Amino acid sequence: LFSGRVDFLLSAPQLKFLPEPTVPEIAFCGRSNVGKSSLLNALTGRRAIARASVTPGRTQELNFFEVGEPTRFRLVDMPGYGFAKAPVKVVEKWKKLVKTYLRGRPVLARNLVLVDSRHGLKDVDREMMRMLDEAAVGYRVVLTKADKIKASELDATAAKVADEIRKHPAAFPELHITSSEKGMGIAALRAAVVADALQ
Ligand code: GDP
Repeated sequence: LFSGRVDFLLSAPQLKFLPEPTVPEIAFCGRSNVGKSSLLNALTGRRAIARASVTPGRTQELNFFEVGEPTRFRLVDMPGYGFAKAPVKVVEKWKKLVKTYLRGRPVLARNLVLVDSRHGLKDVDREMMRMLDEAAVGYRVVLTKADKIKASELDATAAKVADEIRKHPAAFPELHITSSEKGMGIAALRAAVVADALQ
């Protein structure tokens, strides 16, 4: 599927701009700079389908990409979170957009919560996971940039994260360890995404 059509559909800065819920959606979220754009590009095999947004003001939209011809499912690039300097108003707007999307989207099949291998879970990730638990949206936790740290450190972080996500009711118990740079874990994650979308 990913080797076929993958197209940008639209960017929704507000909920009234969401596309019609006609096909399953798989949403991607994570702290700013976690490697979300790189992972979307690696999964779709496109070089620049998703571009990194580096300014807090520009991260407030949900970006939709369609996969398959005719469209079989959508990938949703959620706004990054955890900007240290984000104004309270921006954070509040983000929460409202995300919470409403999570709660009111019957086609949302799965969420992927991206976590930087070097940093492990931060409080903003825990808050995101609680929002997903509350909305009863099942999610996979994905460690990114695994090539950036030593294998021993990666093992330790993975064990810690795996331990913690077991306490979250909507989280899948198994962890995905990836590097978009090296292609590590990408094929397995791609298969999981397709299975989740077409279940
Ligand atoms: P986003 O803000 O979450 O969309 O993050 P980006 O995809 O733009 O990545 C942020 C930075 O991390 C960029 O400089 C990327 O080149 C780098 N990066 C992303 N994924 C990887 C990876 O798997 N390995 C390494 N070494 N760097 C990565």
